[in-house]
Amino acid sequence: MKHRFDHSKLFSEKPLCGGKRCYKTKKDAEAVKLEQEILNPELSLTIYHCAQCGTYHLTRNKSADDFLE
Ligand SMILES: [Zn+2]
Repeated sequence: MKHRFDHSKLFSEKPLCGGKRCYKTKKDAEAVKLEQEILNPELSLTIYHCAQCGTYHLTRNKSADDFLE
């Protein structure tokens, strides 16, 4: 039986911004972050400013999960 969690789907981060939602202001990103964390209590998101496109993105905090295996 396979119990391994498929991390590749959760953390399919790409160097380009194609797959990410862009938030023009940090306030926008914060609003979505709060909403998502309420919907998904185990989710922990981090807002970061992207130098490539100049907007804000949300990314999952992966540090905790990375050490589970
Ligand atoms: Zn970007």
